Amino acid sequence: MDFERVKQYIKEAGLPNFRISQVREAVFNRGISSWEEASSLPADLRSKLTQEQPILSFKVSKIVCSRQDRVAKALLTLRDGLQIETVLLKPQDTWSVCVSSQVGCALRCSFCSTGKMGFKRDLTHEEITDQVLMWYQYIHKEKLGERISSVVFMGMGEPLLNYLNVVKAAQDLSNPDYLNIGARHISISTSGIADKLHKLAVDLPQANLAVSLHNADNAERSKLMPVNRRYDLEDLKKALEEYIAMTGRQVFLEYSVLENVNSRPEHIRKLADWIYSIKDNYLLHVNLIACNLGRGEKTDDRVVKAFAAGLKAMGIGVTIRKSMGNDILAACGQLASQRN
Ligand code: SF4
Repeated sequence: MDFERVKQYIKEAGLPNFRISQVREAVFNRGISSWEEASSLPADLRSKLTQEQPILSFKVSKIVCSRQDRVAKALLTLRDGLQIETVLLKPQDTWSVCVSSQVGCALRCSFCSTGKMGFKRDLTHEEITDQVLMWYQYIHKEKLGERISSVVFMGMGEPLLNYLNVVKAAQDLSNPDYLNIGARHISISTSGIADKLHKLAVDLPQANLAVSLHNADNAERSKLMPVNRRYDLEDLKKALEEYIAMTGRQVFLEYSVLENVNSRPEHIRKLADWIYSIKDNYLLHVNLIACNLGRGEKTDDRVVKAFAAGLKAMGIGVTIRKSMGNDILAACGQLASQRN
């Protein structure tokens, strides 16, 4: 829901200002799913809002829950009939939402289901924030306890190629009048659109930045991620140095370990060399993920652990991240539409 638009609607209808607070309380505190549940509003306003200002900008077509992890995935149908997926997960004690920023993606990374769809269109800022609002409603309805404490832009699409909508969505999400997600609990994950990092440091200086690296050899990275032909490792290095100098923030390098593709000792060496070539490299941290090969299958944990040990031995900060929701194709690189 675009709260600014609804506020304007209430003002133009000549209604008193306290109706705006009532709407805010019902939608963003109580997590109502329909205007009929907004009992503090008069019946005629509830029915007008139902007809003219739907709370969500899409229909929830399906929700599937993982049997092995605290993960749920939703298939959403947008007003033009296109579909996207979004994920709710609980890696630790609080809920996190993974949002999509585009329908499909033009970048066609070889390991990614979204890339295979091709690019359809950018999502609006409202379609992005509504993914979080929809899960907020779900948590309330299912009585799942704690609130949503973090949002990651790691779903379908490249966030920095839908820059304005992503920045506006991140700003709205952290607005205390909306869902009040702490700005430092919002993470933007990019495949490495180097020429947008300067602007990102200005517009969202508090957000976390994650860069999907997956290989520190230009020729090999270009095969995995064709975007590397446009912004190679040298471009990325310069952009990261500038970003770190501007924000002083830690940056996460995501590395999905694919057995026999990017997991050998020479890959560890090249990754460490590339990191050491970057100024202020103590602020770079590698997140290793076992690559998801399909439903229930992923790179053997021993391969990932050996890679982590190799990096640690070279003095690089590294964490093995648990891949969640693999059984419902909700893990990294598995989101697409019209599948389950
Ligand atoms: S990994 Fe990200 S950037 Fe690459 S194709 Fe998939 S959605 Fe696009």
